Amino acid sequence: MRKRSILAIFAHPDDEMGVSALLAKYASEGHDVYLACVTSGQKGYRAHFGMPPGDGLGKVREEELRCAARQLGIHEPFLLGYQDQGISSPPVVHEIAGRVRELFEKTRADVVITWGPDGITGHVDHTATGAIVTLAFQQQGLLKHKPSKLYYVALPESQILNVPDTLRRERPLYTVSERFITTEVDCREYFEAGLRAIECHRSQFSPERMQQFKEMNSRVFRDRVSLRLALSTVPAPNGREDSILAGLE
Ligand SMILES: [Zn+2]
Repeated sequence: MRKRSILAIFAHPDDEMGVSALLAKYASEGHDVYLACVTSGQKGYRAHFGMPPGDGLGKVREEELRCAARQLGIHEPFLLGYQDQGISSPPVVHEIAGRVRELFEKTRADVVITWGPDGITGHVDHTATGAIVTLAFQQQGLLKHKPSKLYYVALPESQILNVPDTLRRERPLYTVSERFITTEVDCREYFEAGLRAIECHRSQFSPERMQQFKEMNSRVFRDRVSLRLALSTVPAPNGREDSILAGLE
């Protein structure tokens, strides 16, 4: 298959973890895989790490994301540097949409991945990022480069039962009904790389928490990453796709 360009855009360093195995897979298959992060996660204070919220913490988290990208074998991330929980006001939304259009052009993205309206955790930055990327994608008239497909990360309803209680108790996790899952990609060979990338985010996850993610990988996702095709300029295949590159010539 022709070399393609895949661009994932999320809100915080570590948001990529739900699709990290997927990003590693396509990078290892020789495609250009890019990751962009809208905020620097400056408010991600965690007691085990102890660093107060602020720009210093944002710098640490940016470095952690660079580390994660290296583990996944993808390009160095684009760090847009906006303030954590500061991306929802109309002028900022407008500005970020412009940055997203530039990223489409710079990466020549064929496929874009972002948060759906659930943002999995419902975090206001997740939902804002998903909305901004969708906005940029759908206004095709403003695009110098038009990606072909836009995907939302999805946690299928049936998989929520496998999420460890401790993770579910902390915050609600929003799922997507199976009937709306369009795409399931076998990533079994790449979950190890995904875990190595998660281990870069030391400011966010204590060793105990890392252990929970390892459990979650084996119990929840098993061998696949699920997504929902939100917008596409190419005809959707019949039935479920097994690749985000399906339907591209
Ligand atoms: Zn996040």
